[in-house]
Amino acid sequence: MTTTDTAAQSQPFQAEVAELLNLMVHSVYSETDIFLRELISNASDALDKLRYESIAKPELMADGGEPKIRIVPKKEPDTLSVIDNGLGMDRQELIDNLGTIAKSGTKSFLTKLTEAKDGAGLIGQFGVGFYAAFMVADRIVVTSRRAGSAEAWTWSSSGGAGFEIAPASEEDAARVVRGTEIVLHMKKDAAKYLEPYEIERVVGAYSDNIQFPIELVPEDG
Ligand code: ADP
Ligand code: MG
Repeated sequence: MTTTDTAAQSQPFQAEVAELLNLMVHSVYSETDIFLRELISNASDALDKLRYESIAKPELMADGGEPKIRIVPKKEPDTLSVIDNGLGMDRQELIDNLGTIAKSGTKSFLTKLTEAKDGAGLIGQFGVGFYAAFMVADRIVVTSRRAGSAEAWTWSSSGGAGFEIAPASEEDAARVVRGTEIVLHMKKDAAKYLEPYEIERVVGAYSDNIQFPIELVPEDG
């Protein structure tokens, strides 16, 4: 596979992921707020993992600054970024973690979701992790650099059948020194999440327990 490693590649989602995304996009679920909880919880997990791995390998903490989570809203184009300087993901981890569902119980969740009249309620109950972001975004671009790695990779998807994986552009790679940047291209009806007070409300309501600093970066800040 070494010949394909440096080129952009399209890959299909695992069937269960495609099914989940389809349900999410067409669900009437109104409590879309939880997407941010899921992304912040993933960022926090990645910071925990870095802290753990760096016990044996302190050099992993060398570049990339103090552990934190940043939320960056931007208008024109309407994007919301959730950025952490945690452990990050290499190419294979991006493919495995953001293209398949490893969680046990997700299968039964899908069965329940298909059967349930209130499938929506189940989204909040179970939490569908990263994929919840497709409730508010029609395109997601993830750039990640595993701590200590010379390479950064970009995963992107508009939902649907699959995703693309490619080496990060020079510009993106320079910005993502360590960890993961998740850029949500917001749907028109989710533009409220670009308002700082709305972000503060959601973070306060759902992410109060996070042990790392969460910084709301003002536009152009
Ligand atoms: P869960 O967090 O329950 O495992 P998610 O769908 O939220 O499920 O995330 C799937 C996986 O993707 C995570 O387990 C993790 O390995 C990876 N991941 C997601 N976001 C990040 C991130 N910000 N940094 C590093 N890895 C991440
Ligand atoms: Mg998660």
